[in-house]
Amino acid sequence: MKIKTATFVISNTEVDKCPTDGKPEYAFIGRSNVGKSSLINLLTDNKKLAKISGRPGKRQLINHFIINDEWYLVDLPGYGYAKSSKVNRASWEKFIVEYLTKRKELLNVFVLIDSRLEPQKIDIEFMNWCGERQIAFSMVFTKIDNLSSSALQKNLAKYKKEMLKSWDALPPVYTTSSVSKFGKERILNYIEQINSNFVK
Ligand code: GDP
Repeated sequence: MKIKTATFVISNTEVDKCPTDGKPEYAFIGRSNVGKSSLINLLTDNKKLAKISGRPGKRQLINHFIINDEWYLVDLPGYGYAKSSKVNRASWEKFIVEYLTKRKELLNVFVLIDSRLEPQKIDIEFMNWCGERQIAFSMVFTKIDNLSSSALQKNLAKYKKEMLKSWDALPPVYTTSSVSKFGKERILNYIEQINSNFVK
């Protein structure tokens, strides 16, 4: 898929205030600092669409961007920041849970995972939570430029093993680097493929 246009539409914390034109949407979520903003900017060929932030926990909003006037890319707040307060975490949970469970237009959640780390409990728990609710998701391993291919394969295998403890099959798995730009086409093609099967 070629990105012709990528434009910010709206930020909010309420599902009812999300766009109502029924276009398909794809959400991006992950632990704070996982490289979500960088990946969104890579996918959309826009250096500034999502802000690359040194201040985790600041962007507690559902952000909609319209791509090619066809589909929405949705930037969700990062989870698991050590510094955010309990109150913040509770409100994160409430509107994200609402969004993820109620949003009919949501066709896939890209769960971003730092490829350099051993399986993280919070990521596994989040994916299990999605699976239990039949929320379609894919695993996206970020920052693969940061480790050797054998270290990457080892970590992928560990994550897969962890997931297969709870599930018979794995979701689609992507590997990406915002530095080398690896993985962009596969993700965009996957979105294009789902879009082509989408009937309003
Ligand atoms: P977010 O908090 O998940 O939106 O993460 P950001 O996109 O703001 O990135 C967090 C940090 O990781 C920044 O310092 C980025 O420069 C760095 N980063 C993001 N993606 C990559 C990547 O693919 N490779 C490397 N080496 N660093 C990355």
